Amino acid sequence: MKALIVIDYTNDFIADDGKLTCGERGQSIEQRITEITREFVEAGEYVVFTIDIHDENDNYHPERSLFPLHNIRGTKGRKLYGELEKYYNEALHDGKTNVHWIDKTRYSAFTGTDLEVKLRERRIEELHLIGVCTDICVLHTAIDAYNKGLKVVIHRDAVESFNPIGHDWALDHFANTLGAKVVKKGG
Ligand code: ZN
Repeated sequence: MKALIVIDYTNDFIADDGKLTCGERGQSIEQRITEITREFVEAGEYVVFTIDIHDENDNYHPERSLFPLHNIRGTKGRKLYGELEKYYNEALHDGKTNVHWIDKTRYSAFTGTDLEVKLRERRIEELHLIGVCTDICVLHTAIDAYNKGLKVVIHRDAVESFNPIGHDWALDHFANTLGAKVVKKGG
């Protein structure tokens, strides 16, 4: 069994006025990320949106000193971006039961969440990762998946970062250190 993890594709990470935006690089994968999500949902595969959540007054959070405030609870910045937001609402409206949303407070979608329990219940062995940022939340989620013995597939045409060097480095790391399959449409 396989599952798709859609990571942090929100306004704050993608929109021109996002608080920690990947800008055009992030916007360039909008169609592909929506297409892959649609394929998995429609095939009845398990699809999990793992989305950063922060509280404005959380002074103990380690990201506090690293990044500007982003994905604050209850703000527009934390909503999915563009076509993906539209498709997500469509899937919910259609009553798709294989679509799940997990709030996360750390880079890895496994840290402090019930993601692993959900995957094990469904006997899922293969995780497909898409979203942003390649070298931060996608990377840390992939590392945890590797350590838990899950197979990892990265869709290189559906991950991006505000850091092009980090993006390229992470793609290499996925393939050559984590043994992930790095794929894209048409080969
Ligand atoms: Zn964050």
